[in-house]
Amino acid sequence: MTQTQLDQMVHGFQKHVAQCILKLREKHILPVTVQQDVVAEMQLITSEIHDAYRAMFVTFCEEQHIAPDDQLSGMGHYLNSSNSVFANAFTNLDSDYKLNKFIATNFANVKVQEIVMAHYPSGKPAKFSYVPVSSVLELTLSNVDIRDHILSRNTVLSSGDCFSSYSDGSVFNEHAFFTENPNALRLHFYLDEFEVCNPIGSKRGKHKVLAVYYIIGNLDSKYCSEMKFINLCLLVRYQHLQQFDPHYAIVLKPLIEELEKLATDGINIDADGNVYNFRAALATFSGDNLSAHSLAGYQRHFNCGRICRFCMANYDEIHVSFREDAYVVRNKEVHDYHLQALEVSEANGALYGVLHRCPLIDLPYFDVTTAFVPDIMHDMLEGVIPNVTQKIVQKAVQDKLVTVDILNDRLHEVSRGLNDRPNPFTPRMLKQSGSIVGSAAQKWQLYLMLARILGTYIDKNDASWEVYLLLRDITDVVFAPVVSSSSLVHLEGLVFQFLTQFVAVFGSTSVTPKFHYMIHYARLIRMYGPLRQLWCMRFEAKHQYFKSVISSLGNYITVAGTMAHRHQMRQCLEFSCYDILSCEPFCVSTTKSLHMSCLPAELRSAIAVRLQADVDVTDPVTLTQRLRRLHVTYSVDSCFVVAVVEQEEIPVYVHIKYIVLFRDTWILCGRLCFCARFHRHIHAYRVNIDNDWAIVYPGEEVDYNAHDYFIVDECSFITSKYHVPARTL
Ligand SMILES: [Zn+2]
Repeated sequence: MTQTQLDQMVHGFQKHVAQCILKLREKHILPVTVQQDVVAEMQLITSEIHDAYRAMFVTFCEEQHIAPDDQLSGMGHYLNSSNSVFANAFTNLDSDYKLNKFIATNFANVKVQEIVMAHYPSGKPAKFSYVPVSSVLELTLSNVDIRDHILSRNTVLSSGDCFSSYSDGSVFNEHAFFTENPNALRLHFYLDEFEVCNPIGSKRGKHKVLAVYYIIGNLDSKYCSEMKFINLCLLVRYQHLQQFDPHYAIVLKPLIEELEKLATDGINIDADGNVYNFRAALATFSGDNLSAHSLAGYQRHFNCGRICRFCMANYDEIHVSFREDAYVVRNKEVHDYHLQALEVSEANGALYGVLHRCPLIDLPYFDVTTAFVPDIMHDMLEGVIPNVTQKIVQKAVQDKLVTVDILNDRLHEVSRGLNDRPNPFTPRMLKQSGSIVGSAAQKWQLYLMLARILGTYIDKNDASWEVYLLLRDITDVVFAPVVSSSSLVHLEGLVFQFLTQFVAVFGSTSVTPKFHYMIHYARLIRMYGPLRQLWCMRFEAKHQYFKSVISSLGNYITVAGTMAHRHQMRQCLEFSCYDILSCEPFCVSTTKSLHMSCLPAELRSAIAVRLQADVDVTDPVTLTQRLRRLHVTYSVDSCFVVAVVEQEEIPVYVHIKYIVLFRDTWILCGRLCFCARFHRHIHAYRVNIDNDWAIVYPGEEVDYNAHDYFIVDECSFITSKYHVPARTL
């Protein structure tokens, strides 16, 4: 073996060790001390292995009467040496500083920039952490799988029949930049403030951070909810912003400069002898209403004045006027006029609800009135939905139709085995001023299950139940990942009916701004495509990661910097793995290894037909209860839409009975359920179950969310979380 070969081998080993430590460190968010322990242990194991082989080698030489150094010159020297050739491999990795340096030179990664925004009177600098967008895009597009995926998905012009992504909407199709560059990268940004640790007592607000994340909209939507494709742009302590940069002009400056360059020159990726040029532009900004209004320059309160960023509605009007055409819709011209008026007199700010200029207007293609999208997570899941749920349950209890105990028994029964199991009802929750507590996902689950919990106790013509049913019709469209233009025709009328009925039952003072925003949804879906694809839900999971970084490391001094650095290390790790777009299913529950004989004979025959394979009762199979592929979870007893009957848009479901691994292929085995009749009172289809087995491969479903299957009076029912139109995803 030559010295060069040996060096290469040692370097390869060193890279492998570095990647292994990086993986352990970032996956489990290990503190530096633990990381160093791991390195020391690995070093020890390596030298022990060397010593063991050395002893074996010496014994072998003695038995064979060979002098090690003489006859096996090079190799003998390495094997008989007291130090392993791999011992030195650790000297570059045995401190945090050295490991980071090694990773920076040997792996593709994007470094965080710590930028000083101002100085406190004490001289202490106020910094923010910025991750350059062009470098992240370069890293992403240097990956051949992602690059090929994006290049293969060049934008096709929308037919206007169906909205399945942002590029189907009018904002994209009339956009100043994207009409010229339809295949450019669409960057969907998100901003939010969050507490990095439990906000109780005097510490509240102390560790609050503003975060800006973004995704590349050109990736298939099935990847966009994966944490690794949500990129970090900016982290800054909220205190610094309040003190020095209330309008975000300083912290967004580097981003705006980069975006200007990305729109004109783009980035070049040199790969396999070709140069690929990618341009990019900001497509949308998501956030809760407060964050969106703060950045866009609108008023930051919602209990008087101009509470809407989509129209000129005054707080007083929203309780009586439920059609969009009763309001003046905001647009670029209107907004420019408001900004001019603001220059004339600050008093005009309160008059129009526009308090300052949004720094992003520096981008030539940017329009404040179309860039800040609605967020159905905050408006619906944390606003309208729990509000309506609470009022209906409260009224049913007050009218003595049902007791809290009965409700909780029903809830317990209905929610058995669910991931986002709602919290039980409490008397406090059901007071006039009470509210539903829990996460957005729990609130949604409770709302969907309400028909099963409360439906049987309520009369068919109950006025408050009609409010619920109208809202279910609305959320069927608003929460759908794909929306057909035919369902949008009815949406505006449905919202009008819902608000009218809501006011008739619960009074006009119950209407909050979040109820008002619904009147814009039909138009907003035509503008942006399905609102679900722009909601904050997917981004908020990222906050959890950052919170766990801080709680594991216990570093409260340089919160933003630490979180950003660790995030970039994790990204480095994720991009060092080969199959970043992997679609392979994996189990998320325990598995059982059995034989084919454990499955019914008819099912074995169905598997043989579908897999075109001979199936024997002695063949091994693995069974599991839950399987995951991308962000879809398949569980035994859940229902997926596998087809939609074209004209009437009626779904066909598969009710999963077994999840089976047979000859390296995961399959879902179940019964097809055909809809017989829609029962409006419980918002569910009564279904007939097919006698034959259906075999479905994960990913073959038409829609990626599980829908609920239940039995009432020995009849089978399925309730959909939303309407699935006749179109494959
Ligand atoms: Zn409005």
